[in-house]
Amino acid sequence: MAKLQLKNLNKTYSPKVVPVKDISLDVSEGEFLTLLGPSGCGKSTTLRLIAGLEQPTRGEIRIGDRDVTYLRPGDRDIAMVFQSYALYPHMTVYENMASSLKLRKKISNSEIERLVTEVAASLGLTELIDRKPGKLSGGQRQRVALGRALVRQPEVFLLDEPLSNLDALLREKVRAELKQLFSSQKAPVVYVTHDQTEAMTLSTKVAVLNSGNVQQLDPPHLIYTRPANQFVAGFVGSPQMNLLVLKCQGNFAQLGDFRVRLPDMPTVPPEIVLGIRPEHVGFADAEAGKMSAPEAIKGEVFLVENLGMQNLVSVRVKGVDSVTVRALLPNDRHWNSEIVELVFGPQLLHWFDVKTGDRLQ
Ligand code: ADP
Ligand code: MG
Repeated sequence: MAKLQLKNLNKTYSPKVVPVKDISLDVSEGEFLTLLGPSGCGKSTTLRLIAGLEQPTRGEIRIGDRDVTYLRPGDRDIAMVFQSYALYPHMTVYENMASSLKLRKKISNSEIERLVTEVAASLGLTELIDRKPGKLSGGQRQRVALGRALVRQPEVFLLDEPLSNLDALLREKVRAELKQLFSSQKAPVVYVTHDQTEAMTLSTKVAVLNSGNVQQLDPPHLIYTRPANQFVAGFVGSPQMNLLVLKCQGNFAQLGDFRVRLPDMPTVPPEIVLGIRPEHVGFADAEAGKMSAPEAIKGEVFLVENLGMQNLVSVRVKGVDSVTVRALLPNDRHWNSEIVELVFGPQLLHWFDVKTGDRLQ
């Protein structure tokens, strides 16, 4: 199996529309790379460039030792799964899956039958093999689209938001199936989604994209524990990370009455962004000893949202106007508009440059 490489890939539609800006990535055998980012950040365009459905303005795409940048889609040995499934409505499940194989010259009918039957069985499609797409549910159609990609045994798999047309329950189920399915595939996978849960659960590597640029390329756990900048910190994690602008003085950063020690840094800037995830915030009384009271954030509870497993509690920080900190807390307690002290482990704080947004530790 061959490695997929993108080298300084760029796609310009017009001076103002540059959906892909200098993207360089490697996806090796057995790797599952997810392109994660908000709508319009260039995920689908990047995938379409790899598939050959668009031509890059600059840059190179390699599969193993082949330069495929200007090859026709059919000559790249890539299989792509689209959000819309793109099945042939007049063909049965079997014919849809076999269709991509019939384009190949050197394959016998019995070999096609063997491959389709085998993949159909692994996807639980055996019973549905003679049905047409119109008689299938959304989840079943998605499985046929996957099956069509799998029977080809391509050098590279591309999947563009394959779960977004499924309802929440089914999405969770098919996500787990996808994970199992691709864990036994050797070919590199590039998966596109705006859904952070899909990115975190499925990937061996995640590339977070914003405005056509890769913001961070790392395994999922590092994307979460060491976000490279404020964009990644704010985009990954739900509920969203608290991001507060603090004034620096000596070795401390301050917001109203709240004072916290700065990490070691060569020069202390006048202001700094402090990031704290809601799941890392606790209450002083419940979490005694986590951090001394002067380093707690004092504030008034003004909103409690019951998320089922936990409460998301919003607190207005005392001594400053309209700054809110949100904490994810056990839902065994009833909240009024009371004054509370929020505490957190100092090792769980994130620090970012106010101007560039870059991580500072
Ligand atoms: P994503 O998949 O991340 O939502 P896309 O890659 O589809 O984003 O689109 C990125 C940007 O490129 C968008 O602003 C979109 O409008 C623009 N774009 C995509 N395709 C074309 C095209 N064929 N012509 C002009 N602009 C396009
Ligand atoms: Mg898209």
